[in-house]
Amino acid sequence: MSDVVAEARAFLAEHWSPSVDPDEWRERVIDAHWAALRWPSQWYGRDLADEQAKEVEAVFAEAGAPGPGQDMYNLWAGTMIAFGSDELKRLFVRRLLLDDVAMCLLYSEPGAGSDLAGIRTTAVRDGDEWVVSGQKVWTSGARDADFGMLIARTDWDQPKHRGITFFWFPMRQPGVEVRPLRQATGDARFNEVFITDARVPATHMVGELNKGWWVLQTALAYERIAMGGARRSAPTVAARAPKGATAAAHGDIPSPDISLVKLAQTMGRNTDPAVRQELARLHCLRMVNGLNGDRAKAAADTGTSSPLASLGKLAMANILHYAGRVQGHLLGMEGTLDGDRFPRSRDANYSQLNAYFFSIGGGTDQIQRNIIGERILGLPKEPEVDREVPFREVTVGRM
Ligand SMILES: Cc1cc2nc3c(=O)[nH]c(=O)nc-3n(C[C@H](O)[C@H](O)[C@H](O)COP(=O)(O)OP(=O)(O)OC[C@H]3O[C@@H](n4cnc5c(N)ncnc54)[C@H](O)[C@@H]3O)c2cc1C
Repeated sequence: MSDVVAEARAFLAEHWSPSVDPDEWRERVIDAHWAALRWPSQWYGRDLADEQAKEVEAVFAEAGAPGPGQDMYNLWAGTMIAFGSDELKRLFVRRLLLDDVAMCLLYSEPGAGSDLAGIRTTAVRDGDEWVVSGQKVWTSGARDADFGMLIARTDWDQPKHRGITFFWFPMRQPGVEVRPLRQATGDARFNEVFITDARVPATHMVGELNKGWWVLQTALAYERIAMGGARRSAPTVAARAPKGATAAAHGDIPSPDISLVKLAQTMGRNTDPAVRQELARLHCLRMVNGLNGDRAKAAADTGTSSPLASLGKLAMANILHYAGRVQGHLLGMEGTLDGDRFPRSRDANYSQLNAYFFSIGGGTDQIQRNIIGERILGLPKEPEVDREVPFREVTVGRM
């Protein structure tokens, strides 16, 4: 047994019990550097290689103790670790690990979603600050957010990917107006964000000036890995859960192959061979995607923005659509009802509609297919006529 595994066992023996307060436990795990094993020891990690980290994670899992794995799923802290200055890290890493700071992603704009390099929100330097103006849209969790990870154009004379800078943007200030958008599910979890001469300290730049595109790739990879595993730190998902709550407790992430087995039993359908086949198929899809998720995480650990994350995200979207269909199928005619008086069919309707979020948020299914086609299958790249043109001269997408 390696020293670190022995240390983990000793830590759990001394401190872990299923009845421990979850917030206290989270803090203890973070401060003892078990929450993000692959990160530098200076920033709450232990500098472990992937293999060793997995051994330690297995020890925690065996004991039923949550906590490790934030180095794989915490996109906010992960982006900060990869690109933030030491000053920003000191201010935010621990708080982000503790889930003590509410965040949102300020990427998409009315004219730039799939083609994020087409953003027009602009930041202009003014002394020790940047002044930001523009409009963002579909921003999950913006109403409650303390900060947003913002991409803004800082040089209009460079080609579209090269004049973008990444900022840690304070949301609670004059000049930031958040308007909720109603979704098909009835929720209003995402928003329009209107930014007018809002300010961000120059020290809140993440990465280098005009090199925000590369920071964004890391942040997107984290998001896709999280969504591929349907983990809580995916912003689409996190925005649904009150702070400190587990996602599952709020039904954020359906785990249909478990709850659907129960539903099949309740409906007296669990001996139907066709139903059993569907449930087994769903279970297998999830297992295979879990294995792909491990590969994607390992690749991310070696510093690549892996197309495996796209594969996992696309697969998870398919799994959730399929699970929604199975849920409706199990209910039969009852599935045509809706509303609080019919909770089973209300949940099935919700699952079916919610699956579309995974097909769109974090980059659409089509975009993931493009990435898989180009980077895994080696197909030719899509032609991009505006790639090398100064952004000022690009007319496509102009509002
Ligand atoms: C639940 C949810 C949460 C979200 N949260 C956030 C958030 O917090 N922050 C944020 O910034 N954004 C967020 N988004 C926005 C999301 O990232 C965008 O909606 C998404 O990237 C698509 O952009 P778009 O809506 O502008 O569609 P468009 O880019 O206009 O695409 C329209 C259609 O064209 C297809 N298409 C576009 N380009 C290509 C291409 N090159 N090849 C093939 N097909 C293509 C797309 O797949 C899509 O079907 C969220 C969206 C959802 C649904």
